[in-house]
Amino acid sequence: MALMVKKFGGSSVANAERVFNVARIITEDYKKGNDVVVVVSAQGDTTDDLIAKAKEINPLSPSKREMDMLLSAGEQISISLLAMAIEKLGFPVVSLLGWQAGFITDTKHSLARIKKVNVERLKNELDKHNIIIVAGFQGINKYDDITTLGRGGSDTSAVALAATLKADVCQIYTDVDGVYTADPRKVTGTKKMDEITYDEMLELATLGAQVLNNRSVEMAKKYNVELEVLSSLENKPGTIVKEKVKMEKMLIKGVACDKDIILVSIVGLKDTPGVAFKVFNELGKKNVNIDIILQSVGRDGTKDITFTAPVNQKDEVLEALENIRPLLNFDKVVVNDKIGKVSIVGAGMETHPGVASKMFEALSDAGINIHMISTSEIKISVLIDEEYCNKAVQYVHDAFID
Ligand code: ASP
Ligand code: MG
Repeated sequence: MALMVKKFGGSSVANAERVFNVARIITEDYKKGNDVVVVVSAQGDTTDDLIAKAKEINPLSPSKREMDMLLSAGEQISISLLAMAIEKLGFPVVSLLGWQAGFITDTKHSLARIKKVNVERLKNELDKHNIIIVAGFQGINKYDDITTLGRGGSDTSAVALAATLKADVCQIYTDVDGVYTADPRKVTGTKKMDEITYDEMLELATLGAQVLNNRSVEMAKKYNVELEVLSSLENKPGTIVKEKVKMEKMLIKGVACDKDIILVSIVGLKDTPGVAFKVFNELGKKNVNIDIILQSVGRDGTKDITFTAPVNQKDEVLEALENIRPLLNFDKVVVNDKIGKVSIVGAGMETHPGVASKMFEALSDAGINIHMISTSEIKISVLIDEEYCNKAVQYVHDAFID
């Protein structure tokens, strides 16, 4: 007997047939005597469709509070339908919205953070032997307003529940059967990993591997919640995400590609102390997620600063730079949105020299020019022209993973 938290993504509950498929997975485990708490996302493309509806009313600036009110409805639909399916199979079940399940968040609409989960209601329902279906991606703030956790936030809801309830297992069901060495839909010869560390997963999540939301992995690491990523469509073991994994021969765990970035250059900054601070302080105020930074020498005692940011924060970047333009008096800002980032990740590279040169050799064989390079202990990233991303991933993958 175990306490199981299971999360099902939107594709896993996309239609009635899939909803019943998920209901059967849940009730199989319940029948064995387990307590089962389930988190679900909105069905299929519901969240995108709701965003499109908002745009019909106000294309530019609907308030984030009302967006949360709207988007949280997607999960209200999926939890009730899934609960009905479980009822139909003859099992006791209750669906709960985020606030009913005790999710308290901060006040940052559309990107709220979970502050705590009040589990009394959940505990009561478990005592009554109910299967519990919780709406992912949402909570309530101190003003009793509905908040959402940001796109893909249901993963985080599941991890928060697993941590608070001290669940024995936390399973994240999706439409792929685990974490692969690269996106199997785009790259040939990929392998499924049995295990991966939180740190590696975190790099791959942020780098656009798109199996797990990065906040959920951060939280799993913080509270030491072991995750399993597995398929809702095939009954077989997935990939385990945890702190330490058995030593593997594989030096590189994965190759990821992120095309949703921009490269921003501020040209003609004065080469004096405090300039970089002022630039990044202003970007920080707008919560811009800066990644690779490069400073280079310009002409006549000037310098250029170049950095990458997510493409969906382009407006914030331009606003921030406009704000400090009078102060810093630089020449111009150049934005390149035809840029992509290809990265390799693996805890093994810390102790193995030659990894970088092997990656660069693969790119050279592919005839791809590198614009910028950045490294950390377990990651090497290069910026290249977006159009070559897929080719680059394939060549680099072939070089490391046989
Ligand atoms: N439904 C939300 C989204 O599409 C949350 C989630 O799926 O995790 O982003
Ligand atoms: Mg997801």
